[in-house]
Amino acid sequence: MGVYHHAGRLFAAGIFAVVSAAHAEEDRREVGPHVHGRATLAIAIEANNVQMEFVAPGMDIVGFEHEAETARQKRAVETALADLREPLNLFVLPESTGCTLTSAEVTVVAQDQEHHDAAAEADDSAETEELEDHHSEFRATYALACTDAAQLTSIYFPFFDRFAEARALAVTIIDADGQSSSDVTRDYRHLER
Ligand SMILES: [Zn+2]
Repeated sequence: MGVYHHAGRLFAAGIFAVVSAAHAEEDRREVGPHVHGRATLAIAIEANNVQMEFVAPGMDIVGFEHEAETARQKRAVETALADLREPLNLFVLPESTGCTLTSAEVTVVAQDQEHHDAAAEADDSAETEELEDHHSEFRATYALACTDAAQLTSIYFPFFDRFAEARALAVTIIDADGQSSSDVTRDYRHLER
């Protein structure tokens, strides 16, 4: 599945640098504009080390993006954070890769209030239906150590079973041969490289 783009040869040290730079950029920018229902997963493979960067609108993960207020909402966020700390239950790799999780950092990043207010004013004339105009995202960084990362030829996504609001996941895989991108969806939750 997916189109394979040869982005030129990336040297081992360069692969993680690319992902880290993209991540740093993301932290600086404001939350959004993201597309509700479309999360992203970037996977960098360097020898037997795999790094993943996951970003999802709060809407996809807990069904809201405002600050959790009720006990039920707070519990939904806590449970989601806990489940996102176990990525190998959500993004299942072939057993032959022998990958184990060595680190997981998961956070919720909310749009700051100033930007929120400015955006709300600017949007006054826009849609009046009850849309959430305060955005937040779940972001995660994972590191895996594998015994044979070359066996990472497919991924299955129980992610869609766990998160009922998630509809699509844009997956980018970067390795020494280049970069490939493809979308997996609730209806087609399997990726072959
Ligand atoms: Zn949003």
